[in-house]
Amino acid sequence: MIEDKNTPRTSIAELGEFGLIDHLTKNFNISQETTIKGIGDDAAVLDFKDKKCVITTDLLIEGIHFDLSYVPLKHLGYKAVIVNLSDIYAMNATASQITVSIAVSNRFPLEALEELYAGISTAAKIYDIDVIGGDTTSSTTGLMISITAIGYVDEEELVYRDGAGESDLLVVSGDVGAAYLGLQVLEREKKVYEVNPNSQPDLDQYSYLIERQLKPEARKDIKALLHTLEVKPTSMIDISDGLSSEIIHLCTRSKVGVNLYEEKIPLDPTVIATCEEFTLNSTTVALNGGEDYELLFTIKQKDFPKIKANPNLTVIGHMTDEKSGIGLVTRANEKIELQAQGWNPIKE
Ligand code: ADP
Ligand code: MG
Repeated sequence: MIEDKNTPRTSIAELGEFGLIDHLTKNFNISQETTIKGIGDDAAVLDFKDKKCVITTDLLIEGIHFDLSYVPLKHLGYKAVIVNLSDIYAMNATASQITVSIAVSNRFPLEALEELYAGISTAAKIYDIDVIGGDTTSSTTGLMISITAIGYVDEEELVYRDGAGESDLLVVSGDVGAAYLGLQVLEREKKVYEVNPNSQPDLDQYSYLIERQLKPEARKDIKALLHTLEVKPTSMIDISDGLSSEIIHLCTRSKVGVNLYEEKIPLDPTVIATCEEFTLNSTTVALNGGEDYELLFTIKQKDFPKIKANPNLTVIGHMTDEKSGIGLVTRANEKIELQAQGWNPIKE
């Protein structure tokens, strides 16, 4: 952790702003053919030829979006990139570049920023994107990171939130709810640590949940998968605020209703087990947890045979006419209205 007294602490003031930028960015190479000019001039230059360019940005603030007492800076850098790439993939586009802007107080030594950038650089390598610029400034209140992601797509491949039709099927990639539970486990351990700093937590059984919280992945693979299966989603969104709130976005934008089937929602076995331990309702966690960074999309019914055998994709419901409402069909076969809770605390 950053307060560890054994790690070297080089003051960033020693380097100066330009020294710091050079130091942090010296290892970024350019690999995308759409990048004409990256870091080092007044602006980057990109060339997307006949493709449409997609762009998205995200701002993360210490104490609001992350807590450095249990989030390692390397993971934070990685996750800050992932949350942006996920938005590009949700347009059915290919991510190609990011810019990274940071505001740091002198509480952070150079070594802390190196960790942050190690995470950013790892994500850039794994997802094959160029870091093409950013901004560096000081802060008096804590760490802030703003990442902008850029991507490209053929116009006919673009998928918006508003394209769902009345009888389309609702599909989700992967499983949901684990990232929220990972946060619950980390917060519980933080409290234990505050009471007894010598406690040695055994978090093995929660490793999937903690990984989903601290080191999420974005679904870069889904565009290629759907392409292979010859399925084009009619609408799509990524799951950042929770399944429930994203379903409501798709329905509202597309002017349709939905029947979401509780029994179909994909849950990892550790989610079910940990919900029991925390006496949380697993459906509530799946619906309102958030930060899953899975993709939620709709497809035409005729495409069902193409996706039904795929272990990465689960049909969780079907769209209806708008008047039928946005409904959750429970295991008891009752239909209740879905509520968007976003990040509000989950109540039983
Ligand atoms: P300017 O004064 O024109 O804003 P800067 O000196 O801030 O330029 O930046 C110099 C170069 O370094 C630019 O290419 C900029 O995009 C890049 N850059 C600045 N800060 C960062 C950062 N934190 N991460 C990545 N690139 C950065
Ligand atoms: Mg600048």
